[in-house]
Amino acid sequence: MKEMKMEKTLRLILGDQINENHSWFTSVDPTVTYLLVETRSETDYVRHHIQKVAGFFAAMRYFAHLLTEKGHQVEYVKISDEASFPTFGAAVQSVIGRFDFQYLEYQEPDEYRVDQHLNALKNTLSIPVRMVSSEHFFTTRSDVSRFFEGKKTRVMERFYRHLRTKEMLLMDGDKPWMNQWNFDAENRKKIPAKHVVPEPFLFRNNVVAIVDEIQNAGIKTIGVIDANNYIWPISRQQSLQLLEAFVKDFLPFFGTFEDAMSKEHWSIYHARISFSLNTKMVSPREVIARAIQEWEKRPTEISYNQLEGFVRQILGWREFMRGVYWAKMPEFASMNFLEHTNPVPDWYWTGETNMNCMKHAIKQSLDHAYAHHIQRLMVIGNFSLLANIHPDELDQWYLGIYIDAIEWVEITNTRGMSQFADGGIIGTKPYVCSASYMHKMSNYCQGCFYDKDKKTGEKACPLNSMYWYFHEKHAEKLASNPRIGMVYTTLKKMDPEKKEALIKQAKLYINEIHSL
Ligand code: FAD
Repeated sequence: MKEMKMEKTLRLILGDQINENHSWFTSVDPTVTYLLVETRSETDYVRHHIQKVAGFFAAMRYFAHLLTEKGHQVEYVKISDEASFPTFGAAVQSVIGRFDFQYLEYQEPDEYRVDQHLNALKNTLSIPVRMVSSEHFFTTRSDVSRFFEGKKTRVMERFYRHLRTKEMLLMDGDKPWMNQWNFDAENRKKIPAKHVVPEPFLFRNNVVAIVDEIQNAGIKTIGVIDANNYIWPISRQQSLQLLEAFVKDFLPFFGTFEDAMSKEHWSIYHARISFSLNTKMVSPREVIARAIQEWEKRPTEISYNQLEGFVRQILGWREFMRGVYWAKMPEFASMNFLEHTNPVPDWYWTGETNMNCMKHAIKQSLDHAYAHHIQRLMVIGNFSLLANIHPDELDQWYLGIYIDAIEWVEITNTRGMSQFADGGIIGTKPYVCSASYMHKMSNYCQGCFYDKDKKTGEKACPLNSMYWYFHEKHAEKLASNPRIGMVYTTLKKMDPEKKEALIKQAKLYINEIHSL
């Protein structure tokens, strides 16, 4: 009798698809093999922070180990293996050739670059290829563009409210809890002098072997790492521990101090859950559900603005950004509405600057591969925008340095929200500030080399003159924006000599940007 040939399927798991709860894994199927690959295409498309590369590899390796323990068949290719591969495609082709698979399946990639690569791979293979959902997000790739079809403006708030209603989150029928959708106005407080911020909840993972392999492979990275005490979660279990620590100690002030910045505290009340979310070790649904559950348990300790602020970030901003990314790529990646052309100064790679705000935000990014939202937006993003830095250069910087930087959520935030390079697809106005905002929201100005109160002259804070020069320079493109009308009214009324002095000062700083 002729032996029946078993039809075998290869399933590719990308490094940001470490999702234990995916339906792929509900049962063990002997005809299925899972493939995870550490490739040079991923380590080298930008120069990443060492903590980011190590975190991805550690999470992938642990996940492969877990699948194997559960009885799944797993092929794992390490960066240090003799037979390593430059791309996913090369790895898939080789494995299919060697083991004679009849089907290939993969989960939908979140990055346009990888999506294109796997699409092209499909055409080179002679076996059927199927892309399945990653089962992670609340929305599909096209929900945002469908929602805004025919509408003039694409405002996140509207999409957020739509999702709240659709998902019945923080809703009582068709009414938002507390009869109010948005509590942002309560979420703009500076850390009071005597307020004690809890220490961040950190892991002490050992990633020494992985770091050695990364270095031996000659992968170029930025930043530093304590490989014996690696602080980021590398498994679902650790991600859930981090979430527990967040809801217990940090959620009670998350909203109130969401925009605050401090020299002493690098993550304040933020969740630091983005790496776990973006690698899919945890799902946005469960993170939100856990926060709601905690609020329901401790309503007197956790005021509602804390919860709503947190839910807004994940359900609103995160889903919105993904939708805009898929609606606007690949054009989005080359937008430069304000035609900025300056290079990133060298000190972005060291933090060696006299500007205290930039020094702290950059140094902590190099130390921990992390800065919280307002540091990314109103410190580094603000300065970069005022200094006319080319969005291509800045994207590379942001994409490399942060533990959670994956293009779909990095580029939309950097080029869109922060740099207004999309001309207003994501934000309704450029987010810029002078020293007064910095002082209002942080203690960075204390002890700074520059004087926050001076606009021109020796040691005047660069943000002050650059803020006005930015608006003056871009008046043609921005003056009609109703959200910044006040700035242009003030500029119009400004004494011409004062204005000239400001512009002169700003130009001087921008010309000498490397030594600021
Ligand atoms: P929390 O403040 O605790 O917020 C909770 C969660 O909400 C985050 O984990 C994140 O998943 C989500 N969230 C909050 N703000 C946003 C936002 N604007 N867009 C999308 N999701 C959001 N986020 C990334 O995940 N990857 C990036 O590469 C990235 N680059 C950014 C670049 C710039 C210039 C700016 C302004 C923001 C960027 N963000 C990015 C968004 C945000 O800063 C980070 O998600 C956040 O700092 C992650 O830390 P956290 O988990 O402590 O966040």
